[in-house]
Amino acid sequence: MCKHNLTIAILALQGAFREHQQALEKLNVSCFEIRQSSDLTRPFDGLILPGGESTVMGKLLWELNLFNSLKAKIEEGLPVFGTCAGLILLAGKIESAVPHLGTMEITARRNAYGRQLGSFQTHADFGGNGIIPMIFIRAPYITAVSENAEILARVDGNIVAARQKNQLATAFHPELSEDLSVHQYFLNMIQERESA
Ligand code: GLN
Repeated sequence: MCKHNLTIAILALQGAFREHQQALEKLNVSCFEIRQSSDLTRPFDGLILPGGESTVMGKLLWELNLFNSLKAKIEEGLPVFGTCAGLILLAGKIESAVPHLGTMEITARRNAYGRQLGSFQTHADFGGNGIIPMIFIRAPYITAVSENAEILARVDGNIVAARQKNQLATAFHPELSEDLSVHQYFLNMIQERESA
């Protein structure tokens, strides 16, 4: 068992941030919400970018003066976990759109499953650690990763989870299932970094 004296900051501008708080509570990890730039003065060990609407979140990051500080922290090595819209915020390339934080060398296709049949649940292996439930809601998938990124999961041949050093992105929503293994994987990433 790892020790969990970690604090995770969750971007709470919009979208499914409460469900991430609940998942972290089950893992006995403390967390707080980032809603404005003064929240960034609190110390934290990792950052979660939740699902929601990436265009809205991207715009709010600028308006609330959070964009440059968060991008710089991620580039300095802050562990970050983006789910769904959070994956889109991290993607260095978005097909037919301008990137947001753009810190991760992946290409994202928004609403990749179509808008109508866009929500579904399936099971697939995550990072060789076993089969887990995966809930997709108007989800993107990843159409390309650089050689610096590792593919962690595929569904129907499409990449739905990837990691690049301190950055983890999933097209699905682990916070909406009972399975805590992706959050646990993220906590392990943070601890690897802290003990390095
Ligand atoms: N379709 C949304 C977007 O493009 C993502 C959906 C989600 O986060 N569940 O930002």
